[in-house]
Amino acid sequence: MSGDGATPRLDGSHRQVVVVGGGQAGLSMSYHLGRDEVDHLVLEQNTVGHEWRERRWDSFCLVTPNWQCQLPGFPYAGDDPHGFMDKDEIIEYLEGFAEFVDAPLVEGVKVTALTRGERGGFEVETSAGELTADQVVVATGGYHHPQIPRRAERFPDSIVQLHSSQYRDAESLPDWPVPITITSPSGSDSASRYWEECSWTIESGKRSARRGICGWW
Ligand SMILES: Cc1cc2nc3c(=O)[nH]c(=O)nc-3n(C[C@H](O)[C@H](O)[C@H](O)COP(=O)(O)OP(=O)(O)OC[C@H]3O[C@@H](n4cnc5c(N)ncnc54)[C@H](O)[C@@H]3O)c2cc1C
Repeated sequence: MSGDGATPRLDGSHRQVVVVGGGQAGLSMSYHLGRDEVDHLVLEQNTVGHEWRERRWDSFCLVTPNWQCQLPGFPYAGDDPHGFMDKDEIIEYLEGFAEFVDAPLVEGVKVTALTRGERGGFEVETSAGELTADQVVVATGGYHHPQIPRRAERFPDSIVQLHSSQYRDAESLPDWPVPITITSPSGSDSASRYWEECSWTIESGKRSARRGICGWW
């Protein structure tokens, strides 16, 4: 259903299950519902892979090793199980999974409200009309809003601040000096890539995330 350009109107239709979100969780849910022959629809406000495509920096790579990529029925099948997929490979893997699942997926439709139906079930309001469902699975992900420490409010305007979801490449940043606050493996990864691009020294909190998190924690 996805990718044909036209967004169908959903007015009045009923499904056993509506899955909100076409990321790996929503598609995995669809895989299982499909196997159990449950009538369902997956609604994705953007396109499959959007989070990885649009909200990760260009040189992003997973901090979890490839062998851990075990989407249901579709485990990592490449020849580098101990490597770390880069951004393009992740998107390709996810798009391959969507094709494999052949989910009843509608892209470009945002769910705007969920209410209990008067006779049970749910009323689902979307940007393409309304529908009803016996059950709704919310698989909208957990990283919608950047968590920025309050301390950042006290920095002067002359200091450019970027959250990692806004960072793309070294070009996104002004000329030196560039302090980078690292609070996670992903922060460490973006910092180390920045360092590679610019050949400057970075004080990394721990170590390069390229080693992945499994070897450390
Ligand atoms: C910087 C960063 C680095 C990460 N690195 C790793 C890693 O190395 N390894 C790892 O395993 N995990 C990593 N993660 C975590 C991983 O991205 C998430 O666990 C994973 O994407 C969750 O999948 P999901 O399907 O639940 O959510 P998402 O991938 O966020 O998908 C949710 C989907 O729901 C859609 N959606 C949201 N609201 C609506 C709505 N109202 N209507 C319709 N659609 C909607 C969104 O457009 C999106 O496509 C990282 C996360 C971040 C932020």
